[in-house]
Amino acid sequence: MDLVNGYTLMSYAKKNHLVLPAFNTTNYEMTLAIIKAFDEMKLGGYIQISSHNLKLSSPEIIANMTREVMVRENISTPIGLHLDHGKSFEDVKRCIDAGFTSVMVDASELPFDDNIQEVKRAADYAHYFGIPVEAELGGIRGKEDDHVSDVNAKTHPEDVLNFVEKTGCDTLAVAVGNVHGLDLTPNLDFPLMAKVAEASPVPLVLHGGSGIPFDQVRRAKENNLIKVNYGSDLRKAYIKTFGQAYDENHNEFNLYGVAAKGIQNVIETATTIIKEVNVKEVGIL
Ligand SMILES: [Zn+2]
Repeated sequence: MDLVNGYTLMSYAKKNHLVLPAFNTTNYEMTLAIIKAFDEMKLGGYIQISSHNLKLSSPEIIANMTREVMVRENISTPIGLHLDHGKSFEDVKRCIDAGFTSVMVDASELPFDDNIQEVKRAADYAHYFGIPVEAELGGIRGKEDDHVSDVNAKTHPEDVLNFVEKTGCDTLAVAVGNVHGLDLTPNLDFPLMAKVAEASPVPLVLHGGSGIPFDQVRRAKENNLIKVNYGSDLRKAYIKTFGQAYDENHNEFNLYGVAAKGIQNVIETATTIIKEVNVKEVGIL
């Protein structure tokens, strides 16, 4: 099947009581591995790429490649293509035009009112094409691609309703002690997350899944969590394959062999995450 629209994917998650993993891709091998992992587990989710990683290719290359793999591999599991940390209106527009099925607008570093304005502008455009929008409120600490954020601003529950209503966002990425990357230790603040969930008319998104113990992700599911992002774990699995190959043989030049092993390692890491996040639901679909 083709990529699935973001709203359809949200309904699928709700109907089946799933938290959808969202895995970051960068290139062909990562994309193929992520799609195969979802399909092997017969549980849907997101492939996503950030504005920063799109500099290595383009929205068009990523969208065309993802759709080609979906059709060629005869995939029957619902998968969406999401723009992660969309840094500008132009990026959001280009990804939607290229065929992405949902987008994130990341203007969380701007003052509150400017964040609202940026998200609303992108949401108005996205909604015209039937595409849902994720926005971020609060600052998620840690390393997101090459960008290091020291902002330690958790999401304020009292801002949530106002923000969601004014922006028209469809999901909300929250800062509740979760962090980007593997350099900092996450410490989820569950009472805060519960307050944010209660105040939010839309489902929540957790960034920085790689460092969070699986039992905590499952617990977070009780707080209207619909999507959890995994970037570092899969990247590490892929990069490690190349490092090990080079360590074993400094004259290694079998790129196909090493890349194929890398794909296998990413599939294994992704399937473990898919199983652990939705442990009760695996096999029931
Ligand atoms: Zn993130």
